[in-house]
Amino acid sequence: MQTTVPEKCTVLVIGGGPAGSSAATHLAKQGVDVVLLERAEFPRNQVGESLIPHFWKFTDQLGVSEKIKQQGFISKAGGITVWNNKIHQILFSDYGYTRPGLHIERDVFDHLLLDFSVEQGVQVFNQVVVKKVDLSTAEPEVYYTDTRDTTNRDGKIQCRYVIDASGHSSLLAHQLDTRQTISSEINFLSLWGYFKNSRFVGVDRQSHANDELDKMAPVTFVMSHEDGWLWHIILREKTSVGMIVHTDKLTGMNKAQREVFFKQSCAQIPYLKDLLREAEFIENSLQYRPDYSYYASETCRENYYCIGDAAGFVDPIFSHGVQNAFYNAAVATMAIMGSLKNTSKSARYAALCENRMQQFYSFSRALSLGDFGCNGVHRDLVKSLMNAMPPLELELMLVASEMTNRSENFKQLAREAGVWEQFSEQFEQQKRGVIEELNF
Ligand SMILES: Cc1cc2nc3c(=O)[nH]c(=O)nc-3n(C[C@H](O)[C@H](O)[C@H](O)COP(=O)(O)OP(=O)(O)OC[C@H]3O[C@@H](n4cnc5c(N)ncnc54)[C@H](O)[C@@H]3O)c2cc1C
Repeated sequence: MQTTVPEKCTVLVIGGGPAGSSAATHLAKQGVDVVLLERAEFPRNQVGESLIPHFWKFTDQLGVSEKIKQQGFISKAGGITVWNNKIHQILFSDYGYTRPGLHIERDVFDHLLLDFSVEQGVQVFNQVVVKKVDLSTAEPEVYYTDTRDTTNRDGKIQCRYVIDASGHSSLLAHQLDTRQTISSEINFLSLWGYFKNSRFVGVDRQSHANDELDKMAPVTFVMSHEDGWLWHIILREKTSVGMIVHTDKLTGMNKAQREVFFKQSCAQIPYLKDLLREAEFIENSLQYRPDYSYYASETCRENYYCIGDAAGFVDPIFSHGVQNAFYNAAVATMAIMGSLKNTSKSARYAALCENRMQQFYSFSRALSLGDFGCNGVHRDLVKSLMNAMPPLELELMLVASEMTNRSENFKQLAREAGVWEQFSEQFEQQKRGVIEELNF
């Protein structure tokens, strides 16, 4: 790690999560001078531990897949959902995927990616908090506080492009007043905590003791419940259990009351209570994030790009967050490379990037929040993406949309795009993914 933040660079990245570190790596690999400022000291905790296999294509581009494999994260074969008592199973291998999804400890995963960006030449500064970005000059000025020692020294760095990858803080969207919250009926909050020694759901649809992990591939387990939905993600040393709950349900509760609610729910909800029957809650592990479904109405301009959660966030039911972060980083850095080569086209590159990112977020939002209306969804962009997707990938998304009762809008978009017909008959005949029971 460097000691002094330089006064100038070509690209300044705010935040060292998957969006920021991967954008920085892409640029550094192409010879661009990149500085990344990260508020936390890494490794730092983060939620979002289930990855669908799509992410490998991005880590292949970065050149970091081998390091991820060597880490030995838990491989998952797919997912099982129980939604309104209907049970579905998805196996990635049925959709042409030869590589697994993963259950990752995000502190380890994000640290690995950030270290990799340092290896590629990115100047990374941890514990440096960006306060404000001045975009009024041709070369933006980024104001920060360096918290590495007790003096908390303020400083400024000038750059040609700023990438805001500050996650849900969405620093620039707040500053530019472009941050929109998705309508109140879909305002959820999340509560998550960790258990030791939880059982897990195997790909064979049975519940298994924790020590059988080396014998049986696990799946991510997701189910609806009275107040929302929940996840169960087995990791190497612990298990992540999270609940997405309508905000109204927990209004006025303090931390201790939220913990009581969480523990009671874990002890009562069918299937989950069986998985946790031998488990022990890790004290003080409960975390909470209020109203998190938002998006920035403008994400890319000539001299700035908001990517990853800084650009928008959707209900994480289909584990799209990290993948979105990687995708945004890839398209934003392509746009910046184009702009560096041909400055007169900077606005055009930014507009193209904005369009691609809005398309991807719209798709995720339509998929995840289907029955809540299409708040923040550009319908035509979703339809064009549906038409451009490889058929098996689209089929996986359509099957996934069927797993919950949130699919109506998504199916409607598929009908309007003219892609539904090729799948609908098959869904009816085979009831793809529907299973009768789980043996717990
Ligand atoms: C409840 C929940 C469950 C989720 N489950 C999944 C899942 O299973 N799978 C999945 O793929 N995704 C999931 N997600 C989404 C996933 O967590 C995010 O999409 C992902 O972390 C986005 O990466 P990012 O790099 O944009 O942001 P982050 O990972 O949040 O990184 C942003 C970084 O910016 C830093 N930062 C913030 N402000 C500043 C500042 N002012 N100055 C300097 N640094 C700053 C932060 O410290 C942080 O390290 C979930 C999210 C939630 C809320």
